[in-house]
Amino acid sequence: MANEPWQQALQESLTAPEQLLDRFDFDPLPLKAVAERYPMRIPSYYLDLIQAVGDPIWRQCVPDLRELDETGLFDPLGEEDLSPTPAVIHRYPDRVIFLASGSCASYCRFCTRKRKVGCSALSMSFRELREGIDYIAATPQIKDVILSGGDPLLLPDSVLGDLLARIQAIPHVEIIRIGSRVPVTLPERITDKLCALLARFEPLYLNTHFNHPREITEQARQACGKLSRAGIPLGNQTVLLRGVNDDPQTMIALFRGLLKIRVKPYYLHQMDLACGTAHFRTPISAGLEILKALRGPVSGLATPHYVIDLPGGKGKVPLLPEYVKRRGEVLEIRTPAGELVEYPDCSLLS
Ligand code: SF4
Repeated sequence: MANEPWQQALQESLTAPEQLLDRFDFDPLPLKAVAERYPMRIPSYYLDLIQAVGDPIWRQCVPDLRELDETGLFDPLGEEDLSPTPAVIHRYPDRVIFLASGSCASYCRFCTRKRKVGCSALSMSFRELREGIDYIAATPQIKDVILSGGDPLLLPDSVLGDLLARIQAIPHVEIIRIGSRVPVTLPERITDKLCALLARFEPLYLNTHFNHPREITEQARQACGKLSRAGIPLGNQTVLLRGVNDDPQTMIALFRGLLKIRVKPYYLHQMDLACGTAHFRTPISAGLEILKALRGPVSGLATPHYVIDLPGGKGKVPLLPEYVKRRGEVLEIRTPAGELVEYPDCSLLS
């Protein structure tokens, strides 16, 4: 059967740093070892978003020598210890991550699962997928299944449809979520056929992963529009990345731009402590400053939760700037503009 256009685009992606020489002036040789360790893949759509060597799009998809720095944790979220079966990560009682696919349209250099995305370690066999489904079916407290990977939307429609149908048929599963970066890196994957397929599995949510306002293109807008019209609520998880989006003005443009394409900014993630990603890490204070800058000028709808995913699978914790300056019967609260306002805690006064 002929490949669909998005599959063709994927096959024609760049997979080695020297292939970038046609467009950019840089030395690819030192990067070969990085790409051998952590795979590279850049589809032509995403490649076209790069304007210059080292710009925010380049940094997200082109290998960097600093990835060979071993500082950090191999498995920062302790996922290996939380996997009752290879395809499932069961960290919270009522929900699981289901590792549906081992590959992605573009391999993000900051990926928390870079230890295994694009490698055979994350490519589940049919037997492993079946075991994962059997585990969910045998565990009644699981209400919410999050398809992840890799990118689940790289599965062919027939395989994806079969997987979703098997999960939806489990009586105690109430919702299915998909985590996918294809609206950002390969928007041609969001076909009418895919949207019609996904619409069959209501309630189904999709969380995507825009990190920079330049990723919000006309093609991305159309892809998100198709998903919205198919009745799929869209959220976004942004990772706070040094040299990519670690300043308030970039974040304000990103979150406002997302609302315009009907995507709700959901999480702003502090970078995990994954090996090979230390050069992307920002101090926590940078994230808190961004949050402070958002509060007031930007509506609550455009403001995500800023979270740290604690090492060892201890879970996500939200971080907030300190607004309460004094506690007691009368609190002293700092406004976003810096003014101190007293507020009576009526329950203590009565
Ligand atoms: S798309 Fe997601 S899973 Fe794939 S490399 Fe990027 S961050 Fe990692």
